[in-house]
Amino acid sequence: MASLSWKHHTLIQALISRGPLKEKEFHSIFTGVTGRNPGDAKKIFDKYLLEINKELSYVHFELRACRDQYDGHVCYGVVNTVSDDQSKLGTKYSVPQIAFFKGIIEAIAHDEAAQGCISGFDALNIRLENQVPSEASSSQQQVPPAFRNFSMSQKDKTLDELVKDNWLCRTRDGNNIGLGIRSLLDLRSWFRSNDVPSCEVCNEAGVKADLCPNEGCTVRIHKYCLKNLSSQRDDRVCSGCGKPWPLGRVAKEEAVEAALNDDDEEETDTQATSLRSKKRKIRRHRDSAENVSSQASLASSSGITRRRVTRSAAHLS
Ligand SMILES: [Zn+2]
Ligand SMILES: [Zn+2]
Repeated sequence: MASLSWKHHTLIQALISRGPLKEKEFHSIFTGVTGRNPGDAKKIFDKYLLEINKELSYVHFELRACRDQYDGHVCYGVVNTVSDDQSKLGTKYSVPQIAFFKGIIEAIAHDEAAQGCISGFDALNIRLENQVPSEASSSQQQVPPAFRNFSMSQKDKTLDELVKDNWLCRTRDGNNIGLGIRSLLDLRSWFRSNDVPSCEVCNEAGVKADLCPNEGCTVRIHKYCLKNLSSQRDDRVCSGCGKPWPLGRVAKEEAVEAALNDDDEEETDTQATSLRSKKRKIRRHRDSAENVSSQASLASSSGITRRRVTRSAAHLS
């Protein structure tokens, strides 16, 4: 078994102690310890990540990359791949706090308009009773008192803690609650097993995404994935409904948003209107895509992603 050098350990240590890191920060740490720039030494960088993951897998951890769906930036983090919430959150959060968190995640991930957030008001009104394990949920008496007695101020305090720990985030105006980078990194398999529709381009869950502007079509694509497509051509046909998806508009919207410095919020009216009747769509090819998807995301700034985007673009046209 290949053992890891101090360089590998430094990279792991940085991600564990400093939480998920933006790609730029992680790359500069990599350059600091290896003297190589991941941009020029892509193969060496990937080899380090593979070696690290081979060792981490023995203790059910994984070094992952994913995009922050709210700003499109790539982040790296080490996640616990054991799927019970207790092992992820239990050392810091109580059982009702975890139930509250799960309720929020579900509400955000299952939003049919893929806005990627719920209002602070809706978050505070999440009912913990719905998070009781299924055998008990039929009977009100079996709802633990700690759930029933979980107060508004406890919820408010828990929201603040979850935001501080990057499990949740507050949108720019501070009124809405979205998923934090830790959740985006951590919940990949949860998104799949809970039928959160994937982005047509990159196959990652489309929590915060644009929906096909055509009424009745459920195809969704991340804004940053659309942007990649629109940089290649002005208009494409949606692979779901076969109708045009005016990508030129995305570039225009982006420009306006950048000018307003408000890229987190406010979808266009067209989108809001066309989204009301959307239904959740169970993705085809989900399983076959999972491996490719996780590999691509580990190499997200690399040629792998570019190739995939190009391939999907061809598919869309
Ligand atoms: Zn995408
Ligand atoms: Zn469509």
